[in-house]
Amino acid sequence: KIIVIGSSNTDLIATMKRFPMAGETLQGRSFLQAMGGKGGNQAMSAHKLGGDVQFISCLGTDENGRNTLTYYTREQLDVSKVLLVENAASGTAMIWVDDNGENSIVINPGANMMLSPEYVCGLETEIANAAMVVVQLEIPYETVQKICGIAVKNKTKILLNAAPAGKIDRETLKRVDYLVVNETEAEIISGVSLETFGQEEVLDKLLAMGAKAVILTLGEKGCLFKTRQTMLYSPAFVVDAKDTTAAGDVFCGALAVELCRETDWETALTFASAASALCVTRIGAQPSIPTEEEVRDFLRK
Ligand code: ADP
Repeated sequence: KIIVIGSSNTDLIATMKRFPMAGETLQGRSFLQAMGGKGGNQAMSAHKLGGDVQFISCLGTDENGRNTLTYYTREQLDVSKVLLVENAASGTAMIWVDDNGENSIVINPGANMMLSPEYVCGLETEIANAAMVVVQLEIPYETVQKICGIAVKNKTKILLNAAPAGKIDRETLKRVDYLVVNETEAEIISGVSLETFGQEEVLDKLLAMGAKAVILTLGEKGCLFKTRQTMLYSPAFVVDAKDTTAAGDVFCGALAVELCRETDWETALTFASAASALCVTRIGAQPSIPTEEEVRDFLRK
């Protein structure tokens, strides 16, 4: 089982020719309301890509929270241990996407910031019985630290997607089995510039800080995997990118599933790259998550 612990948001997505300037009113092209949040996106990705997944998150009892629970239940994602907080607002994200596929996002975390270390302490049995926990940084940092502590104690593998970008303490980094970062996140955690030092040096710095394996995603340039022993580059697939929202999330969910299937790194990275390539061809976070069948078809072509 894979346990994904993280944020859940209701995304309000507007597409437009270009972003409005301050004080300007523009007419959009389309509007879409859909489920999002890094935790939810990664959980749904792993679920749709064939994983046995449980999603832990914190929601309010407002309409968005109730809709979210109903949605995940209908999608047959295990949300039996989601924390519900009375009178709290569930997380929302307002997303703008322009004609170039660029996005601009405002997140109101709400209940996501109420996913406490105490609550995850009560999930020790679930974490201990899982093959892997997947976490991101859209929940309180102390909760992330606690999850890593519990996972290490119970020998459950940890995939940390250090997004959105923020500092990670060395104690936590040492506990992480798979650190997945994009270029900005890699620079912030390592404190080293990619332009000045190059990819290999930055990856080495992250390994020296304690991570056992680092996966650096490079958008349309693909991704790099490095441990102390090996380094592997996996190119991205060339697609017509419409909206890159959730590309990193689909990548993480796909990678988690593949690693739990014990496939080799090259196959796992190719699978994750294919899944995220399909994701960028579609608008929205969760509406753009492909199924395992779609990814396998895409890889056969
Ligand atoms: P994030 O979304 O977290 O910033 P990236 O932009 O690095 O992460 O994207 C994650 C992965 O998604 C990449 O490693 C790549 O495989 C895939 N991806 C992202 N953008 C594109 C694109 N334009 N074309 C094809 N694949 C893409």
